[in-house]
Amino acid sequence: MEVMRILHMNKGNGETSYAKNSTVQSNIISLGRRVMDEALKKLMMSNSEILSFGIADLGCSSGPNSLLSISNIVDTIQNLCPDLNRPVPELRVSLNDLPSNDFNSIFASLPEFYDRLKKRDNNDECLGFDCGRGGPCFVSAVPGSFYGRLFPRRSLHFVHSSSSLHWLSQVPCGDVNKEDGVVITAGLDNRGKIYLSKTSPKNAHKAYALQFQTDFSVFLRSRSEELVPGGRMVLSFLGRNSPDPTTEECCYQWELLAQALMSMAREGIIKEENIDAFNAPYYAASPEELKMAIEKEGSFSIDRLEISPVDWEGGSISDESYDIIRSKPEALASGRRVAKTIRAVVEPMLEPTFGQNVMDELFERYAKIVGEYMYVSSPRYAIIIVSLIRIG
Ligand code: SAH
Repeated sequence: MEVMRILHMNKGNGETSYAKNSTVQSNIISLGRRVMDEALKKLMMSNSEILSFGIADLGCSSGPNSLLSISNIVDTIQNLCPDLNRPVPELRVSLNDLPSNDFNSIFASLPEFYDRLKKRDNNDECLGFDCGRGGPCFVSAVPGSFYGRLFPRRSLHFVHSSSSLHWLSQVPCGDVNKEDGVVITAGLDNRGKIYLSKTSPKNAHKAYALQFQTDFSVFLRSRSEELVPGGRMVLSFLGRNSPDPTTEECCYQWELLAQALMSMAREGIIKEENIDAFNAPYYAASPEELKMAIEKEGSFSIDRLEISPVDWEGGSISDESYDIIRSKPEALASGRRVAKTIRAVVEPMLEPTFGQNVMDELFERYAKIVGEYMYVSSPRYAIIIVSLIRIG
């Protein structure tokens, strides 16, 4: 399965599109705002010379969130400058995602974005990108994988990424030691599941953990070339608190999706061997795994690392022991909303294996299974927010 080709959110503006079903991710952007603002402030305070400020948002997708992150970044920088008694630098903003992303829909919403900047500056006179008091802001798009170089050397000051780095560069492979000592790679033996689960063999655990270490280290190495010394990154993504990668917070959305798929396989609607062969290119890392990758790679220091629980509908949870009591109809309605959110993200990667014609049925079953689960449990994701400084 080629991740570059199948990993993109549902395009356009329809009922099942990411644009219409991304409030969970929008809430995650808001959750990271405080850490992002703090990082931008520290960056501006320690670099008084920046005239042209390079910013990148990695894994921008399409829909309202694509411009939300950069809008927040631009607002924060423009508000900070008067306080720091300095002119607003020109802003070079790059939006990155894989080439299959719906960049056209982002381009179509750019005029509105520039209009908003102009209106906020109360400057109807300004032309094109040049927005008077706010300073010029140049937005461009860079299609490509963030697991590799994307930008020229030392061209960036600030990198942001939200809800993207839990996607791996590829589905992990298992190593098989043949009798003659040759090591070959093979598909993971992960029967009846599509991600790590209590029943997954140990070598699947190892393969996923190793893939994360490899990918994250390539990510850091690439960004270390592109950021100026002292440059910063704020990254938020799905992770986990526990050392065990099979607890509810890291894998239950996949566990329940596997249940829906298996129920269809039992009725002969899809083939069980396709479920056995499919594994998600996803990994929910623990803070320890993250620290290990950062320390090993060596170009970044950690300024802040936080983990926040967020419920499956994107609500923040302030009290760890908080349980939501839902009536059965409420739970089933929640299940339908959660299934729509997840469908907008995973449908393009499931379609090549299971067929487009079974997707409605699959997500109806999934909605019901999730709803039943939400009646008896209050599942949550663990969001890792990490703020890093390029050592230099
Ligand atoms: N940041 C947006 C989108 C999150 S969805 C938001 O907060 O709503 C995750 C996005 O990451 C998807 O659009 C997906 O295509 C992108 N992505 C996943 N792996 C990637 C990679 N290796 N390189 C670039 N983008 C990637």
